Amino acid sequence: MDCLFCKIINKEIPSNIIYEDKQILAFDDIDPKAPIHKLIIPKKHITTTNDLQANDGSLIGAMLILATDLAKKLDIAEPGYRMVMNCNADGGQAVYHIHLHLLGGRSLHWPPG
Ligand code: 5GP
Ligand code: ZN
Repeated sequence: MDCLFCKIINKEIPSNIIYEDKQILAFDDIDPKAPIHKLIIPKKHITTTNDLQANDGSLIGAMLILATDLAKKLDIAEPGYRMVMNCNADGGQAVYHIHLHLLGGRSLHWPPG
């Protein structure tokens, strides 16, 4: 399958990996939108959040908990951070393998301009 993030999982494309286990990979975003910008992805290919199944709950939960652990380790838990998952064109999804953005290290305003 021609998927950028599957290639990162398979180490066919280099990335700065900060966490890896059997089901999840986390790495630096190549074009950070904040001083801290990490991506947390499932190793299983899931194209969009529309494709999530009921039995993916524990996987998504593990991704969310990992993001909060990383936030604590990166000292952004107290000042705060944003977690984002974009879906399809209107959601701004560019890579069609689901990913959780962890953004922090500056004040993040909402809604975006
Ligand atoms: P999306 O817009 O799909 O929610 O987010 C995709 C993210 O992947 C973007 O923040 C973009 O900077 C990041 N990205 C795109 N290509 C690469 C890459 O080759 N390596 C890494 N580490 N991040 C990438
Ligand atoms: Zn993929």
